[in-house]
Amino acid sequence: MSKEICSVNNCGREAVKSLPSSYMPLFQQLGLKVSLKGKRIKLCREHYREIKKIRKMVKRSLF
Ligand SMILES: [Zn+2]
Repeated sequence: MSKEICSVNNCGREAVKSLPSSYMPLFQQLGLKVSLKGKRIKLCREHYREIKKIRKMVKRSLF
């Protein structure tokens, strides 16, 4: 099995998590460019943590 690399442009770290492509707008809010191959966004630990944080904030402001 080959190593997955984080989908965020210019990151290059190893991906440890993946999220469905429905998360794309959150990346845009963060100003991150993501190259999507297939249906899932591959993420390194740092970007995964970042996106989780943002997701919580977005949820709070929506509901
Ligand atoms: Zn990354």
